[in-house]
Amino acid sequence: MTQLISLVVPFYNEAEAIPHLRATLLPCLEAIPDTTWEIICIDDGSTDTTLLQLVALAQADGRFRVIEFSRNFGKEAALTAGISAARGTAVIPLDADLQDPPELIAQMVAAWRAGAEVVLARRIDRTSDGLLKRKTAAWFYRLHNRMSHTKIPENVGDFRLMDRIVVNALNQLPERQRFMKGLFAWVGFHTVTIDYARAPRAAGTTKFSGFALWNFALEGFTSFSTAPLKIWTYLGALTATGTVLYTLFIVIYTAVFGNKVPGYASLFVAITFFGSVQLMSIGLLGEYIGRIYVETKQRPSYLIRKTYGQNDAT
Ligand code: UDP
Ligand code: MG
Repeated sequence: MTQLISLVVPFYNEAEAIPHLRATLLPCLEAIPDTTWEIICIDDGSTDTTLLQLVALAQADGRFRVIEFSRNFGKEAALTAGISAARGTAVIPLDADLQDPPELIAQMVAAWRAGAEVVLARRIDRTSDGLLKRKTAAWFYRLHNRMSHTKIPENVGDFRLMDRIVVNALNQLPERQRFMKGLFAWVGFHTVTIDYARAPRAAGTTKFSGFALWNFALEGFTSFSTAPLKIWTYLGALTATGTVLYTLFIVIYTAVFGNKVPGYASLFVAITFFGSVQLMSIGLLGEYIGRIYVETKQRPSYLIRKTYGQNDAT
């Protein structure tokens, strides 16, 4: 019995990577017994020849399907679109730059056939990423998992195999701002982990700047934890207690020694300190309120201009 498995590959200006991807991916897939494949390519508003190349692929090879976005909506939206368009009994998101090794797919399929509902690919060697990226990623996971009930496994990207049952669960989640790593972890199911070493990009350059990654991390925290909202209550209580003690101290001190120096310095410090605490907590409220605002607008997370391949239907 052959099983249809869907690959979901997001592309944002990956013209240089496509020839590498095609040459490496297809032999890997064809070597896996009893499978047929569909490769769902999402063109996330590329401005180079990515779309042209993808459409040519879809015309030459019926396994390729292309979803063209109306503009760049980001990788999370691209994955969401691909996963909801997938028809396979299992779905595997894959980066276009071959940093997720297609050689691993055979192992993932084997683990899935042995009963796993989710097969995670964990990077044991991230030396292909810079030191700063590795360190900040490690901090992100540590802080996130301490604050949130949804634990995101460390060093696991979007590269994984998901059974149809998991994909259906994901497709049901209604939120528009989709932090996929968190959503993947949130749905749960029987999970097996496979280790691999992360290779450098096959071609082209990274599409995520430092600031984009910072916003991504912020999205992760605020999507899956309300702890940042709550700590201010405790911080407020703590500083209030401190203030009461300090007031007592001043009263007694003045009663005993008299008021020698007017408390200009301490007053100034207190005002700026509380001012900054308030600004920070207001900013934090803003993060969440901003998210509520965006969700209530109920805008779709992406728009499709056109689809190509397999009867051109999504
Ligand atoms: N990507 C995308 N939309 C974006 C940014 C990235 O679809 O706005 C895709 C990109 O084409 C690639 C994958 O997401 O297939 C991972 O991007 P990249 O390799 O640049 O990220 P990194 O590996 O540096 O974290
Ligand atoms: Mg990459």
